[in-house]
Parts: sequence; structure tokens; C-alpha cells
Amino acid sequence: MELWFTEKHTENVKFSIKVDKQLYTAQSEFQRIDIFESKEFGRFLTLDGYMMLTEKDEYIYHEMMVHVPMTVHPNVKKVLVIGGGDGGTVRELIRYPGIEHIDLVEIDEEVVKACRVFLPQTACGFMDSRVHIHYDDGLKYVRKYDDEYDLILVDSTDPFGPGEGLFTKEFYGNCNKALKSDGIMVNQHESPFYPDDAVAMQRAHKRIVESFPISKVYQAHIPTYPSGHWLFGFASKKYHPIVNQDVARWKAQGIKTKYYNEQLHAGAFALPNYVEELLENVEK
Ligand code: SAM
Repeated sequence: MELWFTEKHTENVKFSIKVDKQLYTAQSEFQRIDIFESKEFGRFLTLDGYMMLTEKDEYIYHEMMVHVPMTVHPNVKKVLVIGGGDGGTVRELIRYPGIEHIDLVEIDEEVVKACRVFLPQTACGFMDSRVHIHYDDGLKYVRKYDDEYDLILVDSTDPFGPGEGLFTKEFYGNCNKALKSDGIMVNQHESPFYPDDAVAMQRAHKRIVESFPISKVYQAHIPTYPSGHWLFGFASKKYHPIVNQDVARWKAQGIKTKYYNEQLHAGAFALPNYVEELLENVEK
């Protein structure tokens, strides 16, 4: 008997991974959580049947979410991560000794519990004493803060279910307020490739452009996300992602990465024409 995980990417496209074993399944207050073991991608986490991460390609997403803003902002001390209950984003952040405090706001405690047991590759980040986990809705949490964080990373699920509020104008406005005057926000920005995903991506971009003076989009190749072509949003009050890329400062920290490097940093902001067009259409 063969067991396969299948995610529907569009009405006409499905993505499947052959599963060796189901390691965990639970229905939390917020979503269904599953962790599987596979030959090709190692262990992988799905929420409500949507791929969140696999052991084989998670480094691409987490490195691109963290090291791009960390190369640009000269003095990150206090960071807010919204979502990110698998720990991968936090794992990359704790590699910077200059970071003093990380708040991780995850809506679903069951995700963190399951990842601690079954996904130590990412959850190892939770062991660091600078990491403070809050079980709360990121939309509500961020409302309470003014001028507090140097960096906000929105490592959320897609714009439906519990993650829906993290793609709203209100949320981006409150992130702006919670950031210091030179703060940066990076968010996972969905995929531009399939039309329904592109609409969600454009909606998010429009709202971020309206909320921040500098708003750029960058890309990465993530094999297990729909179409494999994934975008991130870089929203900033002061620093430009390329003009203020400080290669020497980043290199001096000696952080070894598997995907991110300084050439790729600049190159990731060079987008295909069809993506530029999608973005320009909503910027006007
Ligand atoms: N890298 C992943 C992706 O884009 O597919 C995201 C992974 S991470 C597991 C996403 C986390 O966001 C989930 O654990 C989910 O529970 C959490 N989340 C969803 N909505 C949230 C909200 N409103 N506030 C805080 N966390 C939220």
C-alpha cells in the first residue's frame, strides 16, 4: 500500500509527496496539524492540509526571511516574530549575538508542542534564553506596541483561516506603529504564479505599500510551495534593501548559510517582468 500527501495548488494542479509514516495528527482549536515522514523531503509539517515546511527545503524560506533584513538593518536588538511556531525563523535569528530579545507570537500552542517533539531541526531555536513565546493572535498582540521593535517578521500561514488577519491593512499599520523609526518588517508574500495566489499577493502588496514609505518584494525558489516561486515583502521606514545592504558587516559575523549570500541578496529583488507588472498594477 502506498501513502501519499497531496495538496491542491489549483483546481487543475496537485502536488504530492510519498509518505513513509504519519508521525503526528491532531485537531487544535485553530487547525488540523499533521507531521509526516518521507524519503524525498524528510519530515514535513502541514496545517489544514497545506504545506508549511519540509526538512529538506525549509532553510531556503527561513534564511531568506531572516538574513535579508539582518544584512540591511545595522543594529537589530529587539525582534518580533508573528507565527513561526515551527521555530525555523527563530533558529536563524539566534545566530546573531547582537540580538537581545525575541518575542514569538504564535496563535496555536499545539503547533509549538508538536514541532518540539517531531521537528527538532527547526524547533531547536526555542532553547535560546532570548526567545520569549506568547500564545496569542498576532493581530491583537501587535496593537499594544509603539516604537518597540527593530524588526518584525511575519511568518504566518496563508491569508485564510487563523492567518487571515495578518494580511490586513490594520495589521500592517499596527506593525508600522510597533516598529522603531528605522524598523523593518518582512512578511511571507505568497506566490505570483497561479492567478488566485497572485491576487492574494497583490492585495497584500497594496496594503503594505499604503502602510510603509519603502516597500519592495523579493523572491526565492522553494520547491514545496505552490509553483516553487515564492515572494517575500520587505517594508521599511528608513533602510532600502539594496542601497543599505552592508555586505562587510554581515560577512564579519561569520554566519554560514546554505542558500543566502550577498549576490543573491541583491539578485532576489530583481523580479521577472510579469511579477513587476502585477506589483505595479496595485502600486498605482
Ligand atoms: N513557513 C510557513 C509557510 O508560509 O507555509 C509558515 C509556517 S508557521 C508554522 C505559520 C504559523 O503561523 C502557524 O504555526 C500558525 O499557527 C501561525 N499563525 C496563523 N495565524 C496566526 C495569527 N493570527 N497569529 C499568530 N500566529 C498565527
